[in-house]
Amino acid sequence: ATPTSIMVGTGRAAQLGILFRQGQALQELKDVKVIAVDKTGTLTEGKPQLTDFTVTDGQQEDAVLAVVAAVEQQSEHPIALAIVQAAEQRELQIPAISEFQSITGMGVQATVDGKLVQIGADRFMDSLGCSVAEFSAQAQQLGEQGKSPMYAAIDGQLAVMMAVSDPIKSSSKAAIDHLHQQGLQVAMITGDNQHTANAIAKQLGIDHVVAQVLPEAKVEAVKALQEQYGKVAYVGDGINDAPALAAAEVGIAIGTGTDIAIDAADVVLMSGHLTGVINALALSKATLRNIS
Ligand code: ADP
Ligand code: MG
Repeated sequence: ATPTSIMVGTGRAAQLGILFRQGQALQELKDVKVIAVDKTGTLTEGKPQLTDFTVTDGQQEDAVLAVVAAVEQQSEHPIALAIVQAAEQRELQIPAISEFQSITGMGVQATVDGKLVQIGADRFMDSLGCSVAEFSAQAQQLGEQGKSPMYAAIDGQLAVMMAVSDPIKSSSKAAIDHLHQQGLQVAMITGDNQHTANAIAKQLGIDHVVAQVLPEAKVEAVKALQEQYGKVAYVGDGINDAPALAAAEVGIAIGTGTDIAIDAADVVLMSGHLTGVINALALSKATLRNIS
């Protein structure tokens, strides 16, 4: 491609709200075989609501929600906001915390009133030696409804199983159908629960699902797709997507996402919708046609 045609192409893209941070990406996009996407905040709104809150025997609902919200006030994960809002709606007194820690892909923890409060996915609880077996049937059922189950432990004892529901963006289904029409494979790579991921993937007609992965494992999933199908574009919005954005031939960040994702990406979609990927692909093809 000539520098001029690339300039014209990236200029047109900018008018459509697609920022090519790398001219190279405009050339490479047309050769991509797989579009791999993150779930939370990319396919879904990234604005979950707390829908379920089941405490274990001997625990009191409001008291548990108050300490869980206290810890989540320090977190930037969309799940955290859902929990804090639920506590505010109930007008609960939220206690002070200390020693907050975020464990990427697992959850968060802090000390509240001298007690260690740990919140996150089932694998986080497993790693603490805290069994969530009593909730396995309920968690599976919630997952099949597309909700994301998670847990909190207080001083190493399971205190609650919760679930959040995050609506699918209205634009996601049509965008995926369109990608299929272009002969592309569509994969979802998420840190969320397997049942939840499968339920969302089914609604959207996604071909490949990789769930319950840590950020480094998102890179492994991208590599596996590269080996099997060829060049991969990865679309994501979170801190946890940065390694995968860098590993894919074309990294595409959702403009409403975190700065870390945007910094790791070759392309930024200002609209916040997957529809931008289709426009970017069309521009890539048109630009390269004009010069060959
Ligand atoms: P994703 O954004 O794809 O869900 P993450 O790596 O951010 O992936 O998180 C993976 C999982 O870890 C979440 O689905 C959730 O179960 C748990 N988790 C992460 N952060 C939090 C948090 N602040 N509160 C509760 N659970 C969390
Ligand atoms: Mg995300």
